Order: sequence, then C-alpha cells, then structure tokens
Amino acid sequence: MLPFKLIYSDAYFLPIGEHVFPAEKYRRIRDRLISTGVADANDFLEPQPATDQDILLVHKPEYVQKLKTGTLSPREELEMEIPYSRDLAEAFWLAAGGSILAARQSLTDKVCISIGGGFHHAFPDHGEGFCMIHDVAVAIRRMQRDDKIRTAMTLDCDVHQGNGTAAIFAGTRTASALLPSSTSTVQQPEGAPRGKMRGAHAGDVFTISLHQHNNYPLHKPPSSIDVDLPDGTGDDDYLAWLDNAISSGLRQFEPDLLCYIAGADPYREDQLGGLNLTIEGLKKRDQLVFRVARARNLPVMVTYAGGYAQNVEDTVTIHSNTVIAAKEIFAASPSPKTVSS
Ligand SMILES: [Zn+2]
Repeated sequence: MLPFKLIYSDAYFLPIGEHVFPAEKYRRIRDRLISTGVADANDFLEPQPATDQDILLVHKPEYVQKLKTGTLSPREELEMEIPYSRDLAEAFWLAAGGSILAARQSLTDKVCISIGGGFHHAFPDHGEGFCMIHDVAVAIRRMQRDDKIRTAMTLDCDVHQGNGTAAIFAGTRTASALLPSSTSTVQQPEGAPRGKMRGAHAGDVFTISLHQHNNYPLHKPPSSIDVDLPDGTGDDDYLAWLDNAISSGLRQFEPDLLCYIAGADPYREDQLGGLNLTIEGLKKRDQLVFRVARARNLPVMVTYAGGYAQNVEDTVTIHSNTVIAAKEIFAASPSPKTVSS
C-alpha cells in the first residue's frame, strides 16, 4: 500500500474521439500501477465533480454559462482544440474536483497525485490547447477559500508554457499577502546552453514554468519564473535548470502548497515537444521535486497535463514513474528535519 493516495475516476476519460491527446492514458496508468504491484485498489480515491461555485472561483460567469449550455462560438471551440460536448464539460468539472481532492489530501499526507488534470492552458474566460477548465487554479482558490492554505506555488514541468496559470495568477497581490516584487538573479547552470530564466512576482500564488521556448503558446504571459529552454535540451541541463528554478522560487516565496504539473511531454519522443529528455531523466525530475518538497515539509499535489509520445505506452510509463518516484521518496525513512524536531 502506498503512503499516500491516488485520485482517479474512469470518468476522467475525455470524450474527444481520435485525437493526439491520448484520453485513455488515465485508465492505462491506473491499470499499469495495479498490474505491476506499485499500487492496489485501496490506494485510489474517487473524486466528486467540482461545483459550479468552485469553477467560478477562477472562471468568468459568461464562460461557465457557455460551457453549461453548449453555446461556445465556433471560434472559441476551435481555439480549445477539442470538440465540445456536454460530456466533455462534465469530465473537466470532474478533473477540477479531482484536483481539489488532491490538494486537500496532500495537506494530510504530504503528497497526493491525481491521475489526471493539469489543464494549464485554460484561462478565466476561454479554453485553449486541449484545456477547458483550469483544475489546478480551481483547487488553489478553493483551498484558500476554505482557509486551508494562504499561499501556493505552481511548478509546471510540461513542455508547453503554463500560459493560463500565469494569466490567472498575475497581479494577484492582496492586502493580506504583501510580498515584494523581485527579479530573479539566478545564474545559468554551468555548461548549460542558451536557456533563459526571467522572473518577477507579486501575489499569493507564485508560478514557475519550465518549457521549450520555441513551442506553443506563441504568446507566453509572464509567470513568476519562466525558464525558456532551447530546442533539444537534455536530461542534465534540464535538471540543472529545474534545480535552480525551484531554489530561486523558494528563496523568494514561502508556499503552503506546491502544485506540481508533471507533464510527460518534455520526452525526446514526444510528438508535440522538442526537448530531449529520457524516461529516466523525467523520473529524476520527479524525484528532485519530491525530494525538495519532503525536505521542506511542503505538501505537494501532482497533476499530469500533457504527454504525446509516439508510443502511448511511453507516456503511461513516464506518468506511472511519477507515482513510483513519490513512493521512493515518501516511503523512505523520515527526513532529517522530522527526526531532529
Ligand atoms: Zn504540454
């Protein structure tokens, strides 16, 4: 049995027909975790859909109304790049409910993984890039509304920049959360080619995105920290940039919750990505994130976002490895911090 819960429902499946997004990946990840003995049925919790009230913590009433009544314009549907249906909208409400449950559960268990979610291209008033509802943002705002957390940090390792996340949490400085704006002064990792890190932050949610620069979205609204990686970045450089970005973020900001968006698409054989990470490198990425979270006693919730490997089995392996990495880090003997306190 795992020392944490996995959030999953068969209804996570996105009814989008033949599509580059492998909507069946969620069920396949669950099956893989069980068939390989990584998890058993008791490790899974079934989420409830988010309420409309939850969705409205992030999304505009006009947009939510269009989704509930099937009245998106053709242009809006085109921009979303997935075919609207009432069932599809329900799957996104469920993904948001899954992320809320994952956030809540991570505060108890220190880590929780939703085998779904991570729809980081959704904006308050429109969807794009296969994303209708920003489940992670909804979870953060719900946790804040319930006074479970005050601050959060998003760490987005999908190959595509988290434009929706950056837009939603831009300029959210509030009177109760005055934090200094700051500019990142992080050095380029030694030997790493041409990447660029830029940053500035003000607000109660600190956003970090590591992504391929020459890729969707064309317009990248500023995150608190953006790491623009050059085409073909491999394991070692990627891990060095990630390490720097997390360290820099945690020097500037103290989150109550870490929301890790563990996209599988930085993989070298991804159809929509141009980075060069191996399956092993992606597992090291996950281990690095979990190690930092555990050492700081920082609750971490995980969502899966994209993954478009030529062979869908590779995508399933990468996402399953995220669970294995969490198991390795969180099942190990207590961190030194816990022992000494
Ligand atoms: Zn992606």
